Amino acid sequence: MADALSLAKSLKNREVTSVSLVEQAYQAIAETDGDIKAYLTLTKESAMAQAQSIDKRLDQGEELPLLAGIPIGIKDNILLKGFKTTCASKMLENFVAPYDATVIEKINAQGLIPVGKLNMDEFAMGSSTQFSAFQVTRNPRNLDYVPGGSSGGSAATVSANQVPLSLGSDTGGSIRQPASFCGIVGLKPTYGRVSRYGLVSFASSLDQIGPMATTVGGAAALLNVISGFDSKDSTSEQVEVPDFTQAIGQSVSGKRIGVPKVLMGDAVDPQIRKAIDATLADLVAKGATWEVVDFGCMDEALSVYYILAPAEASSNLERYDGVRYGHRKPDAANLNDMYTRTRGEGFGPEVKRRIILGTYVLSSGYYDAYYLKAQKVRSLVIKAYQKAFESVDVILSPTVPSLPFKLGENLEDPIAMYLQDIATIPANLAGLPAISVPCGTSSEGLPIGVQITGKAFDEMTVLSVADAIHVKETL
Ligand code: GLN
Repeated sequence: MADALSLAKSLKNREVTSVSLVEQAYQAIAETDGDIKAYLTLTKESAMAQAQSIDKRLDQGEELPLLAGIPIGIKDNILLKGFKTTCASKMLENFVAPYDATVIEKINAQGLIPVGKLNMDEFAMGSSTQFSAFQVTRNPRNLDYVPGGSSGGSAATVSANQVPLSLGSDTGGSIRQPASFCGIVGLKPTYGRVSRYGLVSFASSLDQIGPMATTVGGAAALLNVISGFDSKDSTSEQVEVPDFTQAIGQSVSGKRIGVPKVLMGDAVDPQIRKAIDATLADLVAKGATWEVVDFGCMDEALSVYYILAPAEASSNLERYDGVRYGHRKPDAANLNDMYTRTRGEGFGPEVKRRIILGTYVLSSGYYDAYYLKAQKVRSLVIKAYQKAFESVDVILSPTVPSLPFKLGENLEDPIAMYLQDIATIPANLAGLPAISVPCGTSSEGLPIGVQITGKAFDEMTVLSVADAIHVKETL
């Protein structure tokens, strides 16, 4: 399926109907999702009814929002009223969303059409979508490879051209890493830009919902739809929402790009380094300048994340106790036995690992040594960015230092899996906007992504630099 903006144009010109686009999406899903397995739930009946109503309004000459009538996929940790929201966990296998997340209210108000709920790592913990309790999603660019994660379903459906747009969530890289692996665009907005109301919490101080798309323009248009203050999310910021599509086609002349030294060194796959070098050369040809920035706390950021994210997760996931939500083990001997067996059965191995780790770092005697210290180092990461942004407009690095890996790989090695996020995590810790854009292909034909990180609420610059890169890639 073509890019969201060109489809929107065809819809406006009445060359296609919304019903035909939605039918096309389901046809593509029927043809390819047997192999790819991006979807956990399809919402065909309501999607078709919504498409019919959009077409009717267009027939009546109504002026509709830019993306009205365009099909979109939704990660299965975002509440879509009346449909299951499983977080790819047995714990929520039969949980039906009682209300819409704010982002869903917004996409409904603008006439986008959710076609289904997308597979993910359980509770968004993982980097390969292999930690789903239900199915393993494959990378559409090569079915032997993982799509990345945790928004692997959201990346795969766009990459497979089933839909032009999807929503993912990103706590430490879960939009950008799968976007990189699947050769698409994925943006984590500034913390507070997009409401988290109705997103199932993993680590609340890091989580953000963001757009995934075939093009930077599509991501920008979707960011327009989902952004804005929401009184239902106490961390939502009251800031102006510009028209992000204005970033498309802007010149990058005079833009100053910082490149962290550690992310250009030997730890990065040579093919990725080559693609990044070529991207930088191209940006320089377009009038940008670049310099090495000293961003010395990359390794520390990873450690900080794997203390803070599990700590927050252990608290957030306390609510799944068999009493209030989802799965409950029957025939327990007493209340404690019920909790233990419910949680023992309901959660998969990675979620348990995080809960144990998080409970440990928060427990009395270890709190100061781990949690408190991690919070202090988090503020050093924020300061490192502030310093870098004194001399540059954006920071450019590989999205992931290694190429996509095969299904089954890294499964038994949590540390190897955690290293996937070394380049993406710092932006979450500092709450900054960051995008992954395709910038090349490996000799095996696997996509390579480049990450652009910007100042808080400066998605505009991030998108404009990303667009300059992506244009080159698609020409
Ligand atoms: N892969 C990271 C983790 O497992 C990031 C996950 C995410 O961003 N949701 O925690």
